[in-house]
Amino acid sequence: MQKAKVIVLKPGYARWEGYASQRACGSITLLLSHKRCLVDLGIPQDKDLILSSLQKHALKPKDIDVVVLTHSDVDHIGNMNLFPDAVFIGGSDVIQGDLFREFFKEKYVIDENISVIHTPGHDNRSISVLVRTDKGVVACTGDLFERENDWLDSEKAETWEVWSQNKELQMKSRSMIWQIADYIVPGHGDIFKVDKKIEL
Ligand SMILES: [Zn+2]
Repeated sequence: MQKAKVIVLKPGYARWEGYASQRACGSITLLLSHKRCLVDLGIPQDKDLILSSLQKHALKPKDIDVVVLTHSDVDHIGNMNLFPDAVFIGGSDVIQGDLFREFFKEKYVIDENISVIHTPGHDNRSISVLVRTDKGVVACTGDLFERENDWLDSEKAETWEVWSQNKELQMKSRSMIWQIADYIVPGHGDIFKVDKKIEL
């Protein structure tokens, strides 16, 4: 059985530029398995980056089978029009064109390496993608995790908490992913290794 490959096309970022002014964009990730998937689609300005990155892997937009949107924040859902034929997964919905094919409960299996689970907290419809790779399980989590060590760097509140709709629920989801995953692609940072010595 061949495992999947995870390629971060664009690591997300978030930086403050003075009071109430932030520049941010979500991570965009390509999954190569039996199905070809994208997790999140950045902002509209990422159109050329997505097209050229796919081209580097000899892919055209029509080769993308599935697009997973981890949540509906605007810096994660640009460029949907590039993939009119793909299956889109968001919240509990699996939709292709105007056809709602499924409302999944526990988990949605894309293929033998890739599945989607509910990880609410950041918002109540947030989802994460679990991918079996040669290096272990990679979780693409959207803003469930902002970036590596997103609990370290602020005195008032942890970075992820600032944006959380339900902190308690998000903490539960974070702990679950922390136990399952060997690597995490967070919403606003590059892929990082899960330090199992730390308990979340
Ligand atoms: Zn975000």
